[in-house]
Amino acid sequence: MKQRAEPAAGVLYVVGTPIGHLGDLSPRARDLLIAVDTIACEDTRHSGQLLSRIGSTARRCSFHQHNTRTRIPQLLLELDEGRSVAVISDAGLPGISDPGQELVAAARLSGCEVISIPGPCAATTALVSSGLPSDRFCFEGFLPAKGRERRERLAFIASEQRTSVIYEAPHRLCQLLDELFELCGEERPLQVARELTKRHEQQVGPTVGVARNHFQEHTPQGECTVVLGGAVPVEIEALTDKQCCEQLLALTAEGMSAKDAAKLLSSKIGRSKRELYALLHAETEQAD
Ligand code: SAM
Repeated sequence: MKQRAEPAAGVLYVVGTPIGHLGDLSPRARDLLIAVDTIACEDTRHSGQLLSRIGSTARRCSFHQHNTRTRIPQLLLELDEGRSVAVISDAGLPGISDPGQELVAAARLSGCEVISIPGPCAATTALVSSGLPSDRFCFEGFLPAKGRERRERLAFIASEQRTSVIYEAPHRLCQLLDELFELCGEERPLQVARELTKRHEQQVGPTVGVARNHFQEHTPQGECTVVLGGAVPVEIEALTDKQCCEQLLALTAEGMSAKDAAKLLSSKIGRSKRELYALLHAETEQAD
């Protein structure tokens, strides 16, 4: 099939770049990054190395979380004037825990064409190499750093029945494994993908307990993606109304709202959210 010539005027290209191994830059991405008018880079110095290596002399501008607001109108103007623009991040796919999504949304809203040039992504690379179920999965990206938000997110992840993929900085990995150990137990399937596509690529698993022990002995270094196996559903009959109430009260005592507590328990035991909320409501009314 004959392909359309690239880059085309007025098109925004979302371009995937390597997450380690430079050989993973696709020929199509390479050609595009050479021929496009402007490249919006998360970090111009970082991407400069890749762009110089492929001989790209396209105009570069920075595009990161601190200048998104001012940069988007400028890039839209360029597109409107018929120039072609590519957006790249430091590694992997823009928009996946990296800048890009807001620019794509703004470009679509203003009627510009957006074309993705796919490439590596740590989340999907870790998932498919983990051996954990990949037919349905949740991408969690980076978790909130601390506090109630983190506890709530971890509680949801622990009760999620699909495989979860989490990005984590190496200096926080041991803390995350401790938290997962508490919430999911040592036997829950888990695989840590470290330094994917790089010289010291490593997989550590196959359970929370094994990975936790490993990283207690070997300080985590390099980039890590955590793939957590899903929770095994609990039989609905297993919990009586009284037991449900106890669990709901324990969750609200930890600071969770009644609505969120009902939602979380519902996802764990398969009983309706509304019923659980009503149980908790009746219990707290009685106590008042
Ligand atoms: N946009 C990127 C993508 O498509 O995967 C993700 C960028 S995010 C800022 C960086 C995080 O991705 C790292 O903290 C790590 O969790 C994960 N990551 C990136 N490269 C990796 C690699 N080579 N091996 C394992 N995890 C990696």
